[in-house]
Amino acid sequence: MLQSDLQIYVNYIFFPFRTLYLRANRVTERSIAKVKREAQTNQTTIFLQARIMGCEMLILFAALLFSAAVATADGSLCATDGIPIVRNISEITQDSFPIPGLSHITVAGALAHGFKEVEIWLETVAPGGGTPIHRHSCEEVFVVLKGSGTLYLASNSHLKYPGTPQEFPIFANSTFHIPVNDVHRVWNTNEHEGLHFLVVISRPPMKAFIYDDWSMPHSAAKLKFPLFWDEKCYHQAPPAKDEL
Ligand code: ZN
Repeated sequence: MLQSDLQIYVNYIFFPFRTLYLRANRVTERSIAKVKREAQTNQTTIFLQARIMGCEMLILFAALLFSAAVATADGSLCATDGIPIVRNISEITQDSFPIPGLSHITVAGALAHGFKEVEIWLETVAPGGGTPIHRHSCEEVFVVLKGSGTLYLASNSHLKYPGTPQEFPIFANSTFHIPVNDVHRVWNTNEHEGLHFLVVISRPPMKAFIYDDWSMPHSAAKLKFPLFWDEKCYHQAPPAKDEL
């Protein structure tokens, strides 16, 4: 009886502590399980992130390889160390830049390829599009390959502003040149066909002065240099001219 009483007494005294202990134990076990689950999740997340980063690095590496391959293949992106003697024009990089309706290829460029005295472009202008009104201190010769349009030319560089330009119809198999510093614009006035032409300029790279309209003073024309297609290679100094 005495032992039984003692047991009851002990149980009575220690029951709350035992309950608390068991409860705390369960809480601890749950916490440990939760931490383990989170650790596993974190491990999985870290593993997935590592895999994603790995894939991204692979894609980046492949993109770099691809762009290097393209640049080498068409020899047109800042290939100042030289380009192949013969190239397929259809493999040379073509771009519209921020000019709607334009397709531009730098066939031979000063900044792009290291040419010293001439630069050649191949361009197509969609119906209703053309060049901005501009002037430059280099000679420029056009050869129209396909389509038709209008050359607007203001030979008034001695006045304060260009004034009303003369209009010259241009057509397939025609050629025209722009005298140095004359303000001009080439426009595709044919509603049905693209205007394709080859452009040859002297003293590259070209520094163009752009006009908002024909009454804008020459002094207010905005310098555009480098031109859109020269921006990629602008970090490279133009090649020194040869002594003639
Ligand atoms: Zn021009």
